[in-house]
Amino acid sequence: MTAAVELATRNIPVTVFEAAQTLGGRARRVVSHGANLDNGLHILIGAYSETIRMIHRVRSTIQRQDLLRLPLHLQIEPAFRMRAWPLPAPLHIAAALFSASGLSWTEKMAAVRFMLNQRSRNFRCKAGTTVATLLQQHSQPRSVIEYLWHPICVSALNTNPDQAAAQVFLNVIRDSLAGPRAASDLLLPQADLSALFPEPAAELVRSHGGQVRLGETVTSLQACDKGFAVSATSTERFSHVIVAVAPHRLAQVVGHLPQLAAQLDLVRQFEYQPIYSVFLQYPQPVRLPAPMIGMRDSPAQWVFDRGALCNQPGMMGVVISASGPHQGLSREELAQQVYRQLADQLSLPEPEWFQVIAEKRATFTCSPDLRRPANLTPVAGLLLAGDYTESPYPATLEAAVRSGSQCARLVTDHHA
Ligand SMILES: Cc1cc2nc3c(=O)[nH]c(=O)nc-3n(C[C@H](O)[C@H](O)[C@H](O)COP(=O)(O)OP(=O)(O)OC[C@H]3O[C@@H](n4cnc5c(N)ncnc54)[C@H](O)[C@@H]3O)c2cc1C
Repeated sequence: MTAAVELATRNIPVTVFEAAQTLGGRARRVVSHGANLDNGLHILIGAYSETIRMIHRVRSTIQRQDLLRLPLHLQIEPAFRMRAWPLPAPLHIAAALFSASGLSWTEKMAAVRFMLNQRSRNFRCKAGTTVATLLQQHSQPRSVIEYLWHPICVSALNTNPDQAAAQVFLNVIRDSLAGPRAASDLLLPQADLSALFPEPAAELVRSHGGQVRLGETVTSLQACDKGFAVSATSTERFSHVIVAVAPHRLAQVVGHLPQLAAQLDLVRQFEYQPIYSVFLQYPQPVRLPAPMIGMRDSPAQWVFDRGALCNQPGMMGVVISASGPHQGLSREELAQQVYRQLADQLSLPEPEWFQVIAEKRATFTCSPDLRRPANLTPVAGLLLAGDYTESPYPATLEAAVRSGSQCARLVTDHHA
């Protein structure tokens, strides 16, 4: 949708084919029990500048309030609290670390030393290093890992530290905690994810004469004279094609093109990580002390108060990122474990109903030395967009948005 907005607003005619009936892909609205839920609860950070820019671009000033911006505040049960101070960077984070509760003085010093050390190395590490190894090399104490680095790694990379790429982790730290003050802000959606970006984006595309067609699966793509024949419900011709499907769907669209063998080969080597979202409806007056609370113990990692955020009183959304023993549980067992955890740690009562959404292939495993395909392919006019293409970032909205923008730029340059 980013690519479509960028092109349509430059008066380049675009047609978007979307297989689903709802726009948004992995970040889309899902309706359950009459409530607008999301396929997965999403959180953005201030460093995701392109995503925020795009959301603001397609939404009116009033609608922009649907993205709640909060200065970094981490509350991770049972003991950790850390709040960015209203000071210029990097003092806002230094003060946050020094004043954090739940860590001893020595542990806080170790966290600050880690940040200073990484800054002096320009946030670069040896190729092939995992996050777990990096943290061990820098003697990070267990509590600092459990309360700080582990949650950041798993939330941002959706990969456990023993498998996760240290360089990508450092890229995220560099641009968020070690970036300008606003870069470490948390941005929490206050609307469902389809309403937040792709639906207003589609309106903008249509208002510029473009088409966004839902329920149209591209079944074949053939190079033809001066462009491509794209088959969905019918076959149409286009000068350029941006394939913006998730990596595990790429072969279905371009698998028959021998020129893309190298790209397909890279994607075939991807492994995937799940994200589970558990929505629990409690009686309406039930609220959390903060819109987002972290949990050190498993299975729940983050709990979002959808009453405070999305005007859905009593609704809690729980995120469980990356692989873990919870994958062996049935949905009922998982929901039970989650609501017992919330009862023990946050004194929540029994929920009225729950909904578990399991995305088995939420993102690729962000492992060291993972090679990702570029936007340009050997076929002129055929580009790849999505969170899995070359990027300093893990599979996130920001990686997807930047990839879409870049494809639009490449098409425009070619068009000019
Ligand atoms: C549960 C969950 C939680 C997440 N949490 C976060 C988070 O907190 N922060 C964050 O930044 N990121 C998060 N992510 C990652 C983020 O959602 C993805 O990185 C992003 O949505 C990827 O966008 P994309 O456009 O690359 O691919 P997708 O969202 O997968 O979009 C691909 C689209 O292509 C369509 N399609 C597929 N095949 C065809 C075809 N043949 N013809 C037509 N259309 C087709 C699909 O229907 C889909 O709409 C999360 C992901 C999940 C699953």
